[in-house]
Amino acid sequence: MKTIFELKQVTLPVQGEDAQFPVNRVYCVGRNYAEHAKEMGADPSREAPFFFGKPADAVFMPAGKVPYPTRTKDLHHEVELVVALKAGGSSLTLEQARDAVYAYAVGIDFTRRDLQADAKKQGRPWDTAKGFDCSGPVTALVPVSKTGWLDKGAITLSLNGQPKQRGDLSDLIWKVDEIIAELSTYYTLKAGDVIFTGTPAGVGAANQGDEVDAAIEGVGRLVFKMA
Ligand code: MN
Repeated sequence: MKTIFELKQVTLPVQGEDAQFPVNRVYCVGRNYAEHAKEMGADPSREAPFFFGKPADAVFMPAGKVPYPTRTKDLHHEVELVVALKAGGSSLTLEQARDAVYAYAVGIDFTRRDLQADAKKQGRPWDTAKGFDCSGPVTALVPVSKTGWLDKGAITLSLNGQPKQRGDLSDLIWKVDEIIAELSTYYTLKAGDVIFTGTPAGVGAANQGDEVDAAIEGVGRLVFKMA
């Protein structure tokens, strides 16, 4: 189809594949580890998951550097297990949700915490706090055919060599298949969708010059400097 101008498809590299993964939508889950819910002053009980989004072009694999964003004085790191879908649909069963998973990645849901706090206080949308340029750096995708289904494994983030975040995938309040099934009751999911599954406790500020080192056991490691 002819278009008025060319628009580049956002893609992510896949470990061990020449072909790239085309990104459709990017969804995120809020407060999905009890210890993080507590540190944000929220009830850590198992209430239904809630969702927000980032634009597709917010996700990218950084080449060693991530730019510090504009309009914030309190950028927070949130290390998360990222899931990439190869199939979609609506009102999926847990089994269909599992079958839809193509790959995992290690990602950061960068957050302008000052803007988010202000939005919460004023009852306004979170978009400028969550969906900004380069707010979702990720590793290359690792197909589930290589990792197997992940239901446990350490998820960590250190800043300049200092441990900051630590959790385990077994502590996810809503598991990956449950997240996908629930999300598919709000949206028709599609192959190409990417989901950030929530962050463990220990979120905090990342400043210019900081070295971020995030890892998930069985998936990989995401290392970069804040430029
Ligand atoms: Mn998050």
